[in-house]
Amino acid sequence: MDIEDLGEPSATCEMCEAHEIRYVHHMEHPSYPQTLGCGCVCAGHMEDDYEGAREREKTLRNAGARRQRWLTRNWRTSRNGNPFLNADGYNIVVYPVGRGWGFRITNRVSNTTIPSRLALPSLDAAKLRAFDAMIWMKQRGQ
Ligand SMILES: [Zn+2]
Repeated sequence: MDIEDLGEPSATCEMCEAHEIRYVHHMEHPSYPQTLGCGCVCAGHMEDDYEGAREREKTLRNAGARRQRWLTRNWRTSRNGNPFLNADGYNIVVYPVGRGWGFRITNRVSNTTIPSRLALPSLDAAKLRAFDAMIWMKQRGQ
C-alpha cells in the first residue's frame, strides 16, 4: 500500500511483533482485516517478493538526505491558505483535517492524485509523510 520512514527504529512490526522497525511497509493481505505495518522481511514474506520489499525500502533510505531538507524547503501558501510545494513534477498540498493534518499529492503530468489515508498529528508530520508518499509514487511511476 505504502511505505513510511519513522526517522529512527521506533515501531514494532505488526506481523511478527518482534522486529523493531524504522521503515514501515503498510501491507494489505486477504487473511487480515486491517492494514499491517511491517518490517522489510515480513513485508517481503507477505507479498512473496523479498526483492521488491528490499528495493522499496532502499529507495526511501536513499532519499534520507533530501527528506531531512524537506521541511526547510520553500513551502508556499495556496489561495485556500494551505502550505504547498511543487517538486519532482508533483504538487504537494498539506491541509488541516479535524485536529490533525492531511496531504494530497498530484502528479502534474498525469493528474494522478493520492490523498493521505490517516490524519497526521502535526503539520511537519504530514509534510514528511507526504515526502515518503511522493517517493513511493515516483518508484511506481505514478
Ligand atoms: Zn516482522
